[in-house]
Amino acid sequence: MESLDQLYQEIILDHYKFPRNKADLSHLPDDQVHENPSCGDTVTLELLFDDEGRISSSCFDGHGCAISTASASLMSERLLGKTRQEAVRLMENFILVMRGELEPEKLEEWGDLAALGGVAKFPLRVKCATLPWHALEAALGDDR
Ligand code: ZN
Repeated sequence: MESLDQLYQEIILDHYKFPRNKADLSHLPDDQVHENPSCGDTVTLELLFDDEGRISSSCFDGHGCAISTASASLMSERLLGKTRQEAVRLMENFILVMRGELEPEKLEEWGDLAALGGVAKFPLRVKCATLPWHALEAALGDDR
């Protein structure tokens, strides 16, 4: 179990140091900047859809702690190719896991996202981990 925790730590640190799909989104309006005041994290998210309604680009911007940055990076990777409906389901399940209402093992179906499962045990960190997903919720809501 310890080695699994270690692996998860490494995944989180890797996504923190080398965030995937991070881009300059300063062209977006301020009201799309999501904040977690308790930690100082900020996340902005921009989704683009292809002709078939699948996410073709999922970029984020912002700054924050390892957990919020890794969560945004892992989320952005996972969203590529998903339909709006699939993205909503992913978001709902992730938030349920973070609230302790769904087993963290559920995240294992989503590859490296499982690394964030342990965050559910740390209430203060949960806000960091869910911040990008609230940005996702808003981004998906925009063109509903
Ligand atoms: Zn944070």
